Amino acid sequence: MAELRDLIVVLGDQLDLDAAAFDGFDDGLDAVWMAEVAEESNHVWSSKPRTVMFLASMRHFALALQAAARPLYYTRLDAPSNGGSLGTQLQADIERLRPARLIMTTPGDWRVLQVIKTVAEAAGLPLDLREDRHFFVSVREFTEHAKGRKSLRMEVFYREQRKRHGVLMEGNEPIGGQWNFDADNREAFGATGPGAVPPRTAFETDAVTREVMVLVNTRFATHPGRLESFAWPVTRAQAVQSLQAFIRERLSLFGRYQDAMWPGDPWLYHAHLSAALNLKLLNPREVVAAAVAAYHARHAPLSSVEGFVRQILGWREYVRGIYWTQMPDYLERNALNAHENLPAWFWTGATDMACLRDALAQTLAHGYANHIQRLMVTGLYALMLGVQPKQVHAWYLAVYVDAVEWVELPNTLGMSQYADGGLMGSKPYIATGKYIARMSPHCKGCRYDPAQRSGDSACPFTTLYWDFLLRHEAALAKNPRMALQVKNVARLTEAQKQAVSARAAAIRRGEIGAERRA
Ligand SMILES: Cc1cc2nc3c(=O)[nH]c(=O)nc-3n(C[C@H](O)[C@H](O)[C@H](O)COP(=O)(O)OP(=O)(O)OC[C@H]3O[C@@H](n4cnc5c(N)ncnc54)[C@H](O)[C@@H]3O)c2cc1C
Ligand code: SF4
Repeated sequence: MAELRDLIVVLGDQLDLDAAAFDGFDDGLDAVWMAEVAEESNHVWSSKPRTVMFLASMRHFALALQAAARPLYYTRLDAPSNGGSLGTQLQADIERLRPARLIMTTPGDWRVLQVIKTVAEAAGLPLDLREDRHFFVSVREFTEHAKGRKSLRMEVFYREQRKRHGVLMEGNEPIGGQWNFDADNREAFGATGPGAVPPRTAFETDAVTREVMVLVNTRFATHPGRLESFAWPVTRAQAVQSLQAFIRERLSLFGRYQDAMWPGDPWLYHAHLSAALNLKLLNPREVVAAAVAAYHARHAPLSSVEGFVRQILGWREYVRGIYWTQMPDYLERNALNAHENLPAWFWTGATDMACLRDALAQTLAHGYANHIQRLMVTGLYALMLGVQPKQVHAWYLAVYVDAVEWVELPNTLGMSQYADGGLMGSKPYIATGKYIARMSPHCKGCRYDPAQRSGDSACPFTTLYWDFLLRHEAALAKNPRMALQVKNVARLTEAQKQAVSARAAAIRRGEIGAERRA
């Protein structure tokens, strides 16, 4: 065997032929390494759609590497020699292939970075970790941004990036004279519903994906989720098609209905691009450029385009910065001292709460729920119930096709569960069932009443909201943004407080909320 110079390690979320890891690649001297390993589906109880998303995209990327004549060592999940984990497999392949150096784009996950470093060190191999230039902002730049600031706020970071990258800018000022169109972006659908929403851009599964589906259904038979409606983009070409369809068909109403929910339709006017972005099938620069071009072509209003750009150039980059500047301690945060278990029905959808049943059914069927379902339905419930943040994190990391830790963890632990004590958001996102009633018609078809906080028909969200305020009253009173909500607690009589606490305790014991079969 000819001497191997560089072995380029490519992970399942690094599927970009132009990644920094390939700079200087010589197909006569170097080779690419990829491996499908069970550990990545078992370290959390990864859903079937999520595992298929990764493996099908990896196998299609392997074909793209072949077409680009880049030599590849690829281990399939069902290969008899499969080592079962990234570390074991890489170590075995290093012994077999004897490369002079390992090269890779810096992994997105802290855990994986430690594994690769350990393997390289044990093998005595130099490891060339390259900047992930997929992102607008490097970790070093984010660290600079964070230096000396008492608090980190997305809005400040976002404005800085708009200026720095000249996105939606007129000189030094934001186009339209406003940085933020949030106030225009909170509409619910009227009583007649969302009307003719364009169908989701769905891709027929090809032989490669079907083979993965059979494998996953066999190997991970007991894992949550279903595959009948798997139709995600798993190639670069499909990802680009999804982006174009979004810009053409959905972007113009994206902003307006960003926070709206409708039973049975998770897709609405959202982009459904997070998995393609996170696996690096799409580049955020092309996504932002396409949205901005739609504004200039008068195809979409500024409020929608700005709202969308804020998610990609703002939130997505910001959470990555938070993750890499806070890990590994971040994983351990539990500012609210929450210790309840996640209800078992989160994994099955068997609850009698209409809003949660719908969000969970979509999650299990598609590996997808839109942002407001994640934040203000599933996340809200777990927060107010008082679930241990690590369990909530393990659930979100397991169930969604777009779930990778650098983006999932800050969203879950920080934004949704307030477990970082206010680093990500200035206050906990708490609300009664009335919020859900305002943003969707779910409550009309529910056995509970969002206006009731105690009594047999009280909505569990409403009960838990008041219980949350009661349990955290002292701490929340110090937060000026919570003052109004906390003040309302003082208006409750002792008997009312006791009724709330008693019902919340029954919810925690599992006597309320789980689906009861006759
Ligand atoms: C508890 C919780 C867990 C989450 N876990 C993930 C996750 O594992 N992976 C993930 O990509 N997103 C996660 N998000 C953020 C967001 O909900 C998803 O990115 C979004 O729902 C994906 O659907 P979409 O592509 O249709 O997004 P759209 O609503 O159409 O938004 C457009 C794009 O903006 C980006 N984006 C929007 N909001 C955020 C955000 N808060 N953080 C980072 N990027 C954002 C995404 O890339 C998304 O594709 C989570 C949010 C919450 C509240
Ligand atoms: S009443 Fe409560 S549980 Fe039922 S759908 Fe409304 S918010 Fe959800």
